[in-house]
This record gives sequence, structure tokens and C-alpha cells, in this order.
Amino acid sequence: EQAAAQKMVSAALPERFRVGTSRRAPSATYDYLIVGAGFAGSVLAERLAADAGKRVLICDRRPHIGGNTYDHYDEAAILVHKYGPHIFHTNSEDIFAYLSRFTAWRPYEHRVLAQAGDLRLPIPINRTTLNALYNIDLTSDAEAERFLADRAEPCDPVKTSRDVVISQVGAELYRTFFEGYTRKQWGLDPSELDRSVTARIPTRTNTDDRYFLDRFQAMPLDGFTRMFERMLNHDNITVMVGTDFADLRRESLADHTIFTGPIDEYFGHCFGHLPYRSLRFTHETHDVRRLLPVAVINYPSEDVPYTRVTEYKHLTGQVHPMTSISYEYASAEGEPYYPIPRPENQALYKQYESLARTRDDVTFVGRLGTYKYYNMDQVVGQALATYRRLRDRHGSSRTL
Ligand code: FAD
Repeated sequence: EQAAAQKMVSAALPERFRVGTSRRAPSATYDYLIVGAGFAGSVLAERLAADAGKRVLICDRRPHIGGNTYDHYDEAAILVHKYGPHIFHTNSEDIFAYLSRFTAWRPYEHRVLAQAGDLRLPIPINRTTLNALYNIDLTSDAEAERFLADRAEPCDPVKTSRDVVISQVGAELYRTFFEGYTRKQWGLDPSELDRSVTARIPTRTNTDDRYFLDRFQAMPLDGFTRMFERMLNHDNITVMVGTDFADLRRESLADHTIFTGPIDEYFGHCFGHLPYRSLRFTHETHDVRRLLPVAVINYPSEDVPYTRVTEYKHLTGQVHPMTSISYEYASAEGEPYYPIPRPENQALYKQYESLARTRDDVTFVGRLGTYKYYNMDQVVGQALATYRRLRDRHGSSRTL
């Protein structure tokens, strides 16, 4: 298995990358050991190496770089996202400019339809969704606002994910689009989840059917993995994939560790396990040019076991006579993907965070390191801010 992993990596990484194995650690020492080669770890590796002149060893237990955004060509030579669809969007010009050093972009505006009975309707809910679902003809924002206001059920205080939706659009739209989807996604009823989960999903009274409204919406032209390769392609950076931190931690390879894996794992779960939601994907290739009208179809019904289906060619713009799709299933078991936003979990995380504050030999960054749902751009922003703090604390040979 290890040999197969190494082979995959050699195919994906430029020749000059030194790829280690979990059996043999390098003998050199480094200024920083970075655990996790996703956005958090890779941005920090790039900045520390290229801007501060530090020597960095970055490892990932998966057989590839890129973390959850890893994309690759499948057997049919179609570019797919191994861990589900990732669409880049940000309002930050600085973050977009920083990433643009490592990739050109393909403009892409994401659209999602939700399967409601026989209908496929735009999500987030907009005026088109309402008109099609209720077979009505709302023609202005004001009419749609009144329509929603008539259905909204005031909740005071708005505490849970259920409260957020019910107070905006009422019980019927809540049941059609949110209840089943959220239960499948989180394994919890929306009434048991923090309001932040559904507060991220807007309701619109216009007919804008884009999923995101950010200023910058684009996909890396050659894919995420290529972008990460360029980011990590530096003489001061050594990359070891297929390598777990557990196999390196006793080697004293660096004075400072940057950990982007689960914070509770780093501390041996000393206060207990932080709960994470996991995902499972099945991938298929079909001998047709196009299967779906948009990149993603959501399935809110609990009668359907998966949460969504993605057709990747919409995201990548690839021209190919066949098409690849993936089905996404949420599960309690498996690799950690999503921190579960509930007050008791946050309280447990705070214990780990306090412990982390007492340690100056390790810094926690990223979605799992800080136990919070972040989009890619937010993780890049967090990593750049962390870099500036480390640079000020540990000194650098150059300035930003
Ligand atoms: P990760 O990408 O998870 O990287 C952490 C890495 O650390 C992993 O590769 C892991 O293998 C490694 N690791 C952990 N522990 C160890 C260890 N002990 N030893 C060695 N390695 C270790 N964001 C968007 O902006 N747009 C989207 O459309 C979008 N879609 C998403 C869809 C899905 C299904 C998911 C799960 C997330 C999505 N996100 C999206 C969020 C995005 O994936 C994250 O913001 C981003 O990947 C977080 O980067 P990270 O470096 O913090 O974590």
C-alpha cells in the first residue's frame, strides 16, 4: 500500500520534491515541522520558506498534498475532487492576490439545485424557487418579502439552526429544504445545532441563483493540486506525504511544530474526543458528455441516502466525451471533516485551546487545529495572520 502511495505521489509531485515514508525520517533538522499539507499548512510552509528564509519540513498522513481540496485525474482522465466539490470564493483582494502567485484562474460561478419531489429548484431559496414550488408569480422583491414574512414564525431568542430558518421562511420551507438535509449532514436535528450552521445559508427575494455572492469566484485553472505543488516548490521546503506526525514527533526534527490536524489528537485526547462529522464519497464515470444541469444537486429528502451529487466538469470546464460524478454521504465514523458546532463541543475545545496557550513549541491552525468550520479563503487568511505572528515572535531573514 505504501509503495502504491509513493507511486501516486511521484506522479503528482515534481521530481525534486523529497517524498519520505513513514518508516524513515530525514536526518536533517528544520526550523519548523508543519503537520498537514492542506491550505493551512501549505500557506505557512510557503511563507516561512520563501519570505522568512526558514527551513521547513511539511508532512501529511495522506498520500498527497492539498488536504481536502486535493484533485486528480481519474481513470477516465477527468479532473475530479477526491473529497467533494471545492469552489473558491472570497471577498478579500489580498487573499485572492496571494493565491494568484501560484495559479491562473478560471472564472466560475457556482449554482446548486435542490431536488424537491419532482422539481429541481435553486438553492439558496430565491424568487424562482418560491414561484416554482408554489406555482405562483411573484414579480418583485417586495412581493417575495411579503410572501416569506407571511410564513415566517417569530422565534425569540433565535438559538438553534431550526430557529434561524423557521423565523425567516416558516415551517413548510424549513421541512422542504433544511430539515432532512441537516439531519443527514450532521446526524442531528437542526434544533440541536448551533444557529451558525444555517445562518450561513441566505434566503433571497430576487432571482439571483448563484450560490456565492463574493467578489472573487474562480477555480484554479490547472486544479488545486497543481496550485499546491507550485506553493511548496521551494528549496527550503521538504515534503513528506504518507507520513503521520505520530511517526515523527519523537525525532525532535524542529524546535517549533505547526499542527493543522485535530487539536484533541495532538494532546492525546486528554480531555476527551472532540466530535467530528465524517464524509464518504463514491465516484462514477458515465459515457455521456453531461449528466446534470448544474455542478451540484442537493437531496434534502431523508428517503435518499446521500446529501448531494456533483458533476465535476461544470467546475473545471474540462472538455471530455465522458463525465465523472460523485455521491456524498455523511457519516459518524471515518476521518474528521467537520467540527460539530454545539455549545458543549465548543466548551471542550476551549479546554484544549487553553492547554495550547501554555505551550510555545506548537501552533494550531486550520479547520481541525482550531475546531471551526472555515472556508478555504478564511483558512488562507488565518494562516497568513499566523505567519505574521510567528515572524514577529521568532524573527526572520526578510520582511513581508
Ligand atoms: P485540511 O484540508 O483538512 O488539511 C489538513 C491535513 O492535515 C489533512 O490533509 C490531513 O491528512 C492532515 N493531518 C491531520 N492529522 C495529521 C497527522 N497526525 N499527521 C499527518 N497529517 C495529518 N471551502 C470553500 O471555500 N469552498 C468550498 O466549496 C468548500 N467545499 C468543501 C466541501 C467539503 C466536502 C469539505 C469537507 C470542505 C469544504 N470546504 C470548502 C472547506 C475546505 O475544505 C477547508 O477550508 C480547507 O480544506 C481547510 O484547510 P486545512 O488545511 O485547515 O485542512
